[in-house]
Amino acid sequence: MDASQYSRLTLMERVDFSDELAVFRLEADEPVDFTPGQYATLGLRVDGNDRPLLRPYSVASAPGSTELEFFIERVEEGSLTPKLWDLERGADVWMRDKIVGRFVLDASRTCHLMMATVTGVGPYISIIRDQLRALRRGALETPRPMLVLHGASRSWELGTYLDELDALAEQFDWLDYVPTVSRPWEDPEWEGECGRVEDVLRKYLDAASFAPDETAAYTCGHPQMIEKAQGILERAGFSEDTIHEEKYFVERNGA
Ligand SMILES: Cc1cc2nc3c(=O)[nH]c(=O)nc-3n(C[C@H](O)[C@H](O)[C@H](O)COP(=O)(O)OP(=O)(O)OC[C@H]3O[C@@H](n4cnc5c(N)ncnc54)[C@H](O)[C@@H]3O)c2cc1C
Repeated sequence: MDASQYSRLTLMERVDFSDELAVFRLEADEPVDFTPGQYATLGLRVDGNDRPLLRPYSVASAPGSTELEFFIERVEEGSLTPKLWDLERGADVWMRDKIVGRFVLDASRTCHLMMATVTGVGPYISIIRDQLRALRRGALETPRPMLVLHGASRSWELGTYLDELDALAEQFDWLDYVPTVSRPWEDPEWEGECGRVEDVLRKYLDAASFAPDETAAYTCGHPQMIEKAQGILERAGFSEDTIHEEKYFVERNGA
């Protein structure tokens, strides 16, 4: 392996939200810089192979820290994720030195409409934490208005981000957060929105009064949500160049 292209990270913590969903906290030797919304390429050396088995993951933490946070779904038949779940605290995880991606804030627009399925909230967490920090430091005067629509089958799959974003939305006018659950019959205590992200999009788009010519839209996670949300946005007057997407996988056999 050409170690000059990779950084060695240490697994500090895994916090489970369900059997398939967890936050991974990894520690780097040096503070890591990137633009909020970008993804890191993480990997493990498998079966003595020289080159690590690599997959891209959006960074959920804000830049400039030695701690990197990732919200990851375990794919049962996947090559890498079951191996990530086998790791003990203190294990090595390799990361490509360059954190990259174009799924970052669109500076050409005032308002930001962010849609995510489950782990797809990661880029928005990084963006929101970064904005919060910039406001606190006085590095940003006018907060950018943001509306986050975050869907999962059941509320616990939204993880600790549910409480974090709820609390921030309560405290700050610039943030609205709408968690939504598509299997409420499996989550009887849930009192929030029900349905998929694309089902609640129209209602909250109207309520937020985000005009299409002032708003950038972002869709992240499951390809079906991305496709459906984009259709709704285009019918609502959003032009293609203001709808940004980060598709986490391609469905097999169109399933
Ligand atoms: C830019 C980018 C950022 C990403 N960020 C994240 C992130 O923050 N968190 C995260 O969990 N994943 C993220 N992903 C997906 C991630 O890179 C891997 O594809 C995923 O973790 C599966 O890897 P694997 O090796 O276990 O499965 P693979 O062996 O790569 O895939 C096995 C099969 O499962 C399908 N598959 C992959 N992911 C899913 C899924 N979530 N649900 C259903 N089927 C799936 C694949 O299409 C493939 O057919 C991101 C992908 C991209 C392109």
